[in-house]
Amino acid sequence: MIAKSERLAHVHSDIRGPLYTEALRMQAEGTPVLKLNTGNPGNFGFGLPQSVRQALEGNLEKAVPYCDVRGMPQARQAILNYHRSRGIQGIVADDIFVGNGVSEVVSMLMTALVGPGDEILMPTPCYSLWSNNTYIGGGKPVFYRCDPQAKWAPDLADMEGKITSRTKAILLINPNNPTGAVYGKEVLLAVAELARKHKLLLLSDEIYDRLIMDDVPYDSIAALAPDLPCVTFNGLSKSHAICGFRCGWMVFSGPGLEDVKQGVMQLASMRLCGNALTQLVIPAALEDFASTRAMMVPGGRLYEQRRAAMEGLKNIDGLNVEENKAAFYIFPGLDKEKFDFVDDQDFAMQFLHEEKVLVIPGRGFDWHEDLRFRIVMLPEPEELSQAMEKLAAFLNRHRR
Ligand code: PLP
Repeated sequence: MIAKSERLAHVHSDIRGPLYTEALRMQAEGTPVLKLNTGNPGNFGFGLPQSVRQALEGNLEKAVPYCDVRGMPQARQAILNYHRSRGIQGIVADDIFVGNGVSEVVSMLMTALVGPGDEILMPTPCYSLWSNNTYIGGGKPVFYRCDPQAKWAPDLADMEGKITSRTKAILLINPNNPTGAVYGKEVLLAVAELARKHKLLLLSDEIYDRLIMDDVPYDSIAALAPDLPCVTFNGLSKSHAICGFRCGWMVFSGPGLEDVKQGVMQLASMRLCGNALTQLVIPAALEDFASTRAMMVPGGRLYEQRRAAMEGLKNIDGLNVEENKAAFYIFPGLDKEKFDFVDDQDFAMQFLHEEKVLVIPGRGFDWHEDLRFRIVMLPEPEELSQAMEKLAAFLNRHRR
């Protein structure tokens, strides 16, 4: 057998891991499974926004040649306008790199940034893209705690206590996957102060910044800390429900990033350019706030789905849940003493087998503090209500 590279030894993605494989096996045997494992709205009947469709119609020829390594000029101009409107100062089009999803630009940035022994501070719970890219670079993800008792805000004392001479950057995922939390301005200013004090780079994954409910105010950390080096990540997978288009970008702002940016340029050049077809839709999509907003307000799909999920969850004895303010996710916890599960993986596997619903256990997000799991609230309200009823019945059967 030819062995895979040792760099992959710690890489893990439970979202498409053993539970997912088991769900696929069950489906192949003819058992329908409700798969609440990925934030992939197109799988749940979210249609193509009209703005995106129109941007493609009649324009396909424009995407035939390789485009600019950093991204098409019109796309980068639209991205520039968007992030300037978010308050990020001093940026120009050449500070922007467009790629095949946030996933690709994260990979490029982390390859350019992380070397053996480097430490990146990142949240627990965390979306595993970030830890995995740190491992691949030979670096170490160091997890700072987000606090379920404080609406999932980062624990700043924990964060500062974990800074070492090897720490290179602090990552924020805001709004957060998997907690659905949106961080307030004070939290962001405090994180920026830590970065300032310890001379660290700020990384901010903001892919859910247009998917916020309840009129919660939103700030981009780069806008609050123009004196600090910062890389901000965003894309269209979630806001326009076009995950399959693979469309994401990053924006470099603040001082001291020339070397890393040059590294990213080397990597971007190696892959010639991002998918040009998807870049055609960026200007129109970034002007179309309306289709995203419509999902997030009362009567809108995501708002009503959250209501259905929360209704179903709130009366379950032994389950604690913080209402999500953004994104597609809810991250409830179980009172371990009240149930007979060995751990979060055991809970999720038994739930899959007994109720045919797939959820991802906390460990998939590097969360080990208590027994938690992530629910993706993308099915229509009725289907979500049924899934929550199944959860309640399942938990009743497993009470001690
Ligand atoms: N960042 C976060 C926090 C995500 O939740 C996801 C996808 O779920 C991504 C990045 C990847 O997005 P993309 O489809 O742009 O690669």
